[in-house]
Amino acid sequence: MHHPENDPKYLGLNVNKGVVQPPSINPYLHLRKKQQRKEYSVKEFAEGILAGNITVLSQAVTLVESSKPEHQAMAQAIIEKCLPYSGNAIRVGITGVPGAGKSTSIDAFGMYLVEKGHKLAVLAIDPSSERTKGSILGDKTRMERLSVQENAFIRPSPSAGSLGGVARKTRETIVLCEAAGFDYIFVETVGVGQSETAVHSMVDFFLLIQLAGTGDELQGIKRGIMEMADGIVINKADGDNVEKAKMAQSQLRNALHLFPLPESEWSPEVLTYSGYYALGIEEVWDMIHRYIEFVKGSGYFDVRRNKQSKFWMYETINERLRNDFYQNAEIEQLMPLLESEVLSARKSSFVAAKEALDRYYLKK
Ligand code: GDP
Repeated sequence: MHHPENDPKYLGLNVNKGVVQPPSINPYLHLRKKQQRKEYSVKEFAEGILAGNITVLSQAVTLVESSKPEHQAMAQAIIEKCLPYSGNAIRVGITGVPGAGKSTSIDAFGMYLVEKGHKLAVLAIDPSSERTKGSILGDKTRMERLSVQENAFIRPSPSAGSLGGVARKTRETIVLCEAAGFDYIFVETVGVGQSETAVHSMVDFFLLIQLAGTGDELQGIKRGIMEMADGIVINKADGDNVEKAKMAQSQLRNALHLFPLPESEWSPEVLTYSGYYALGIEEVWDMIHRYIEFVKGSGYFDVRRNKQSKFWMYETINERLRNDFYQNAEIEQLMPLLESEVLSARKSSFVAAKEALDRYYLKK
């Protein structure tokens, strides 16, 4: 019986002859040249960064983050070369409790800027986190659209260490990113604890992301963080949540009236938006740009940056002194002993501290 499928001219599915299963390991692998990271000189690093080469920039940031003395020395030399070309970006700190929508918002804010032709670097300060340990991927998946943009450079927090150390590295990374031509820098931090102060001390505008209806519009937020904010934005103002967000907005506005005017003489604004649905993003940026214009006009922009430079000079000295002291072998041995003497009230805190410091300075 004739059947169309038996016709040799039939174009439908047919079964091909199979092929031999190929080996699971590429047999030519050994022929590939071993991938070697190029060792750049300080001059090459600086030139690469100034040319906007992202690979070179990333490697320089890795040196900044390294604790090896030879890497640190190299990093400092690169920073020095880049410093004259830095300072031209708008630096924005972004904080909010986990779940407030920081990643979603940074993705939306970032896309807004990139689409306007800007170059954006997203850095983070999160000294406590395990999350960030080598998880560039983690951060990239958190900012899906932004991470594939050529004009966005996303770098997770330097991995765990003292807050001062982590923050210093991020601040130095800002210098490198600015020299590489990034004109917007975001520094993200989780809104729990000390790291806000560190972020505040390296940005021009500090943005606090809040949620409506969590009951902490007035009480729960640490007052200090609210006082640091140049703008408060209430995220997730979409769908059923719009009304609640508007209510939180007026409550926050009222609460802010009770605070004294900040040093910038700019009254922090409260806006609502939705990072997820990209609603109200432009208004948030209008606010930030109005602020920048305001403080540039009043001179506070430079006052704040100068203060920050001074602060970081002292911070760097403090960190170095602290590290040298605590990493001294003799001090390392002595400390547990002194600690137990203090705890058992055999020595006062002050006598113990003096003993440790005397030992360090006399032996040095
Ligand atoms: P992060 O921990 O502060 O970085 O917060 P994420 O950006 O990871 O967001 C936490 C959750 O809130 C996720 O499930 C987001 O999808 C959701 N989310 C973030 N922004 C919005 C928003 O504007 N509207 C709504 N409805 N959900 C959002």
